[in-house]
Amino acid sequence: MTKRALLTGITGQDGAYLAQLLLGKGYEVYGVIRRSSHRGVEDHRLRWLGVANDVQLLDGDLGDLSSLLRIVQEVKPDEIYNLAAQSFVASSWRQPILTANITAVAVANMLEAMRIGAPGARFYQASSSEMYGLIQEPMQSEKTPFYPRSPYAVAKLYGHWITVNYRESFGLHASSGILFNHESPLRGIEFVTRKVTDGVARIKLGLAKELRLGNIDAKRDWGHARDYVRAMWLMLQQETPDDYVVATGVTTTVRDMCRIAFAHAGLDMEAHVVIDPKFYRPAEVDILLGDSSKARAALGWAPETSLDQLIREMVDADLERLKREPGTR
Ligand code: NDP
Ligand code: GDP
Repeated sequence: MTKRALLTGITGQDGAYLAQLLLGKGYEVYGVIRRSSHRGVEDHRLRWLGVANDVQLLDGDLGDLSSLLRIVQEVKPDEIYNLAAQSFVASSWRQPILTANITAVAVANMLEAMRIGAPGARFYQASSSEMYGLIQEPMQSEKTPFYPRSPYAVAKLYGHWITVNYRESFGLHASSGILFNHESPLRGIEFVTRKVTDGVARIKLGLAKELRLGNIDAKRDWGHARDYVRAMWLMLQQETPDDYVVATGVTTTVRDMCRIAFAHAGLDMEAHVVIDPKFYRPAEVDILLGDSSKARAALGWAPETSLDQLIREMVDADLERLKREPGTR
C-alpha cells in the first residue's frame, strides 16, 4: 500500500527536502500551500530539488482550521508533518501576535484536524532548540529545562507541549523533534548562514563590497537540513511516539562560520564584515549545543554533513545562482 504524507510548510526549506526524501521512499506527498498573489514563485524550493511536479499542493492556511479539516479528510494521510510556522526569530519581536497565532495556537488546529479527521495518522511537530534559550545545561537534551528568549521560542514551547499533551490525552501517535539549527542552499535569506553565503558570493562577483551582521559571537550547533529531515521520518517509523533532540554536538561562533565561507571564496573576512547594531536582538540566545544521544541510539540517526561541507555547498550554490541571475535571492 502506498503511504500518504501530508506536509504543512512544504514550500519552506525542510518541506522541500522532506518531500524529496518521502518521494524517494515511494510516498504520495501532499502539501498545504497558502494562497498568494505571487502564484508561480512559491514552489521555487521544490523546483530547485526537481520535485515540484511530483507533489500535490492543496490550498489552506495553518490559521484556518476549516481548511486543515477539509484537507485531512480529502488526503486521509498516514503521516502528517507540521513544519509550517512564522520561523524567523528576529521577526517574532515585530510580529509577536502573528507568531503566537501561527507558530503556537495553530499547532492545535493541525492536531484537532488530525484528531477529528485522521486519528490513526502519525504526527510530527517541528519543535526548536530555541526553546532552550538561556541554557540551563551546557549540553541540551530532552531532559533539559526550557527558557525561551523570544516570542518565537515562547510560541514553539506551546507547540511542543500541546503535541505532548495530545499524545497523553488522546493517545495520538504524536512526536516532537527538537531540532537544532539546520541550513542548506534552500535556507531563507534572512537567516545568518544564508545571509553570509549569499553575501560572500555577492562580494566575490563584485555585486557588493561589505556584509553587515549583528552579534557574531553567538554560537550555534549547525547541521544540514537534508540530514535533519531523515530524523523526522525516522521518528514516525517508531512504534511508540516520543520526543527527540536532533543536533550535531558541535557548536561554532557566527564569526568562525563566516570565516569558513569567506575562506572558501578566497576572500578576507576582516576586510568585508561590518558590525551593525541594527541586527542585534532584544534578547539573545548566546549558545546552543545539542546532545542527540537518544536519537542516535533509538533511531540509528547520525548527521552526515560537517559544517565545513555545509557552508561550502551553500557558497557554491549562491555563486552559481548569482552568476546565472545576478538580481535574484
Ligand atoms: P521556513 O521558514 O523555510 O518555512 C516555513 C513554512 O511555513 C513555509 O512553507 C511557509 O509558507 C509556511 N507557513 C508560514 N505561515 C503559514 C501559514 N499561516 N499557513 C500555512 N503555511 C505557513 O522554515 P524551515 O523549513 O527552516 O523550518 C521548518 C519548521 O521547523 C518551522 O516550523 C521552523 O520553525 C522549525 N525549525 C526550524 C529550524 C531550522 O534551523 N531550520 C530549527 C528548529 C525548528 P510560505 O512559503 O507561504 O511562506
Ligand atoms: P536562530 O538561531 O533561529 O535565531 O537563527 P539565525 O540564523 O537567524 O541567527 C543565528 C544567530 O546569528 C543569532 O544569535 C543571531 O543574533 C546571530 N546573527 C548575527 N548577525 C546576524 C544577522 O545579520 N542576521 C541573522 N539572522 N542572525 C545574525
